[in-house]
Amino acid sequence: MNTTKSKSMIVGIDLGTTNSLVAFVEEGSPKVIPNALGKNITPSVVGLNDDGEVIVGEAARQRLTTHPDKTIATFKRYMGTDRRIGLGRKQYRAEELSALVLKSLKADAESYLGQKVDDVVISVPAYFNDAQRKATTAAAKIAGLNLKRLINEPTAAAIAYGLHSGIDDSTFMVFDLGGGTFDISILELFDEVMQVHACAGDNHLGGEDFTKLLLHHFLDKSGLTFKKLDQESQALLLRLAENAKAVLSSGENATMQFEKKGKHHEWVVTIAEFEKIVEPLLVKLREPIVRALRDADLKASELDCIVMVGGACRMPMIRKNVGKLLSKLPLGNIDYDQTVALGAAVQGGLIAQDQSLNEVVLTDVMPYSLGVGVVNPNARFEGDLLFSPILERNSPVPVSKVEPFFPSHEKQKTVNLGIYQGESRYATDNVKIGLVSMPVTPGPTDENQLDVRFTFDLNGILEVQVQKGDDVKRLIVEGNPGVLSKQEVQASLEKLSELKMHPREKLENVVVLNRAVRLYSQNIGERRDFLADIISFFETELATQDLEKIADARQRVEEALDEIDDDPLGL
Ligand code: AMP
Repeated sequence: MNTTKSKSMIVGIDLGTTNSLVAFVEEGSPKVIPNALGKNITPSVVGLNDDGEVIVGEAARQRLTTHPDKTIATFKRYMGTDRRIGLGRKQYRAEELSALVLKSLKADAESYLGQKVDDVVISVPAYFNDAQRKATTAAAKIAGLNLKRLINEPTAAAIAYGLHSGIDDSTFMVFDLGGGTFDISILELFDEVMQVHACAGDNHLGGEDFTKLLLHHFLDKSGLTFKKLDQESQALLLRLAENAKAVLSSGENATMQFEKKGKHHEWVVTIAEFEKIVEPLLVKLREPIVRALRDADLKASELDCIVMVGGACRMPMIRKNVGKLLSKLPLGNIDYDQTVALGAAVQGGLIAQDQSLNEVVLTDVMPYSLGVGVVNPNARFEGDLLFSPILERNSPVPVSKVEPFFPSHEKQKTVNLGIYQGESRYATDNVKIGLVSMPVTPGPTDENQLDVRFTFDLNGILEVQVQKGDDVKRLIVEGNPGVLSKQEVQASLEKLSELKMHPREKLENVVVLNRAVRLYSQNIGERRDFLADIISFFETELATQDLEKIADARQRVEEALDEIDDDPLGL
């Protein structure tokens, strides 16, 4: 416990699809804060234990296969959508589940720093759209946090890298492949200014897609249909594929084995086979790289280095492919897991004007173009609209621009302007993020000028204003169920405050017990009997409530479990 931290601490949070971390700045350098288990990484997994208490992190992750109906992972994928996810008897939105992870990180930070932590910088994939950013903002509010800034993940990684590299002038690419998202940024560090030149990416491409392809191949080979399997088998199969993927990151082949209805299914997959299966994903990685280079007006040879972040970069084929594409091998000495959180902490320190930090000025860009839908004179179908961009991708942020628009005919009483994000000429091929309506008096169209102002702020959030004379309208989000209203955020806050959180200090025991229970369900015969004895022993010791005895028993049980657990990821 350290009690000498400044009062205006702003911590940095990497709220990842798979894992989350919290970091802070101490004496000019960022450090990751360990959680209640003493670990730097907290799995982004939320669950309910048998007493209905919420558990977050490793304790929940251990129950993914044994209690799939009471445990949820990878919900970041649903941020900015209206999807509800069942946990126990209730349904939750991704914002609410993310808020539980944030609350857990906040508690860890407060316990470690010995002071209240309210102010945060949270990292998001650069390619997160407006709804996903608003969802992250809502998650922070639901967790009772004061969000000071959203920072793009690759930009955060670049800050952390820039701080450590000691190189002042360089142009580099950050390649960020996480569990569910892929981001490319091209940056320049010059006279203590970190300038993002371009970014590109794919919101729905990440390490999990590699796992899924491996899984589908195994299912095909085994003649199994995923949807027809029970939830526990599905979770187990996903775990098998996830483990095989990780094994293939350091070995030549991996074995996937699965028993169902007395039938044994087995597949030894080689690295060459795996690379062939995921070839379509490798191809998909190329497009954003090429686009970012083009937008930055750079040739690959002009890049000084390539910085890789995100857990999925552990697959050697990623490094190899990127190296081949850019004729330059990515740097190998970056911490894939911690860099983004460290950069977010530095950004927090800069906002809090932490005197120990060297001033770094950061300029970021818009990840995509934003504009409105306008009538297509050569409409291909009813309702076909053209996209009229107002802010173009890769404009430096913050940015604000106004453009005039007119009603399409003289009898019009209302102008409905659809707000779109994307790069297609056709509005309908882009993502619709909202709608503003403005009443107009029927009459000559040129007398009904509407000034549409788009303002994109440092958090990557858009504000739209439409002005006609003195009449000003702000964006009314309609038909965008992915964005929570103020009242809904408040309702979520109340809903979560009713949940009982499992006490932090007892989490260590829960992790060990859940791990033993998971191993019990995965083993049979003598091993299973041995595990049953271990579980009974540990439960008896826990019942004594004697902390010293429990700590001693926990260590013994952990050692015994380590002998049995040959699972590289421990899922
Ligand atoms: P992140 O969101 O940055 O934590 O990245 C998580 C992704 O990294 C998940 O898809 C993991 O499966 C993947 N990952 C983690 N470790 C490995 C590994 N050793 N080999 C391959 N993928 C990994």
